[in-house]
Amino acid sequence: MVDYLSNVLWTEDEINFRKEVQEFCAEEIAPIADEIDKGPYPRELLRKIGKVGYMGVHHDRSVGGTERGLSYEIIVAEEISAVNGGLDMARMASTTLYGMPLARFGTAEQKKKYLEPVVAGDKIGCIGITEPDVGSDTAGMKTRAEKDGDDWILNGEKRFITNGSQADYMCAFAITNPDVHSKDGMSAFIVDTTTDGFSVVQDHDLLGMKSARVSWLKLEDVRVPGNMLLGKPGEGFHILMDELDSERTAIAGEAIGYARTPYEIAVKYANERHQFGRPIRAFEGVSFKIADMAMKLEAGRALTLTAARMYDRGENITKQASIAKLYTTEAAIQITNDAVQILGGMGYTTDYPVERFLRDARLMTIGGGTAEILRFLIQREVFKEFFPL
Ligand SMILES: Cc1cc2nc3c(=O)[nH]c(=O)nc-3n(C[C@H](O)[C@H](O)[C@H](O)COP(=O)(O)OP(=O)(O)OC[C@H]3O[C@@H](n4cnc5c(N)ncnc54)[C@H](O)[C@@H]3O)c2cc1C
Repeated sequence: MVDYLSNVLWTEDEINFRKEVQEFCAEEIAPIADEIDKGPYPRELLRKIGKVGYMGVHHDRSVGGTERGLSYEIIVAEEISAVNGGLDMARMASTTLYGMPLARFGTAEQKKKYLEPVVAGDKIGCIGITEPDVGSDTAGMKTRAEKDGDDWILNGEKRFITNGSQADYMCAFAITNPDVHSKDGMSAFIVDTTTDGFSVVQDHDLLGMKSARVSWLKLEDVRVPGNMLLGKPGEGFHILMDELDSERTAIAGEAIGYARTPYEIAVKYANERHQFGRPIRAFEGVSFKIADMAMKLEAGRALTLTAARMYDRGENITKQASIAKLYTTEAAIQITNDAVQILGGMGYTTDYPVERFLRDARLMTIGGGTAEILRFLIQREVFKEFFPL
């Protein structure tokens, strides 16, 4: 394995932690990385990941985490994604996408009951934002929650939900006051997926990320007790925006992982493969691609760590997280695509996992905010900086 660790950006503890995660991945995930791409990852694997603490690096000790912060979560994300993308997507959907809203807005009781077992890897979480008619325009959400005594009754559909058919709990967003803008009329709920009325319409058949399950779900008169409301009524949109900052930073970490392994394979292949009497690395058409890959990986890692460090210091990272996710995800698509090109015909076979990483990477300019939406957010933050209200 190439040493990316002697980097002035990382602390000694982060460097040692990365080595530890790499060893875990080499032992527990690499031997089955191709096999689990054919079906869902074994449930036991997520439990193992929880037991060694990689579900909880950014969670409080009170729920079994290690309180090390998002800079450690991006290390876990990169390292697991460098071996199998779908597995990390499932891990992250549970601990970050589902976990962070609970960590930041949940009561002590909610965290104890619904976050601690997820951090341990014993239970699985998912986040329910997207719907058949609502993707980028989250404020247009159709799912409704109506008060019935102390309870809430949820009705609606959620589509493309990572872990949806496997999850024990969902952090579900729904409109509780349709008479005002969603900014004030949306609320967040913890939903136990065994509740009557919660059903799986189907698991989506995906281009990549095949070791994860991504599902279309239905909520028909799902009764949610009042004490499973997250935060206050009407606080849902704020909780959602807050979650997206940590999600986008963590996804950027994953994107570096998807790109890194194909890059390493391409460098070795370019050195070994001979054509016209010389290694193909001797041709600039090949070696300049390698230069661009290396540059994008280094830049992406620095952007992602910047966003994570700012998050850990409690700063607003909407712009930084958007930049990190946009840059790394577009770079991951370019790098995995160029790696296939460098391997020629072999890149198009399943003899090398490069094609798998290309399929996995393709998702990342769509999920968690499309590239177009991120460009919109970045320019909005830029104009706010130049022309504050
Ligand atoms: C594998 C996978 C896993 C996912 N996991 C989850 C999950 O766990 N939970 C969850 O809630 N969701 C999840 N999603 C959903 C994902 O977040 C959405 O797909 C994404 O937000 C885009 O929404 P959409 O697919 O409805 O596209 P749309 O919003 O319909 O967009 C279609 C196209 O129009 C463009 N577009 C839309 N609005 C604008 C605009 N204002 N300006 C410029 N262009 C625009 C988009 O950029 C895109 O190119 C997942 C999706 C996939 C594919």
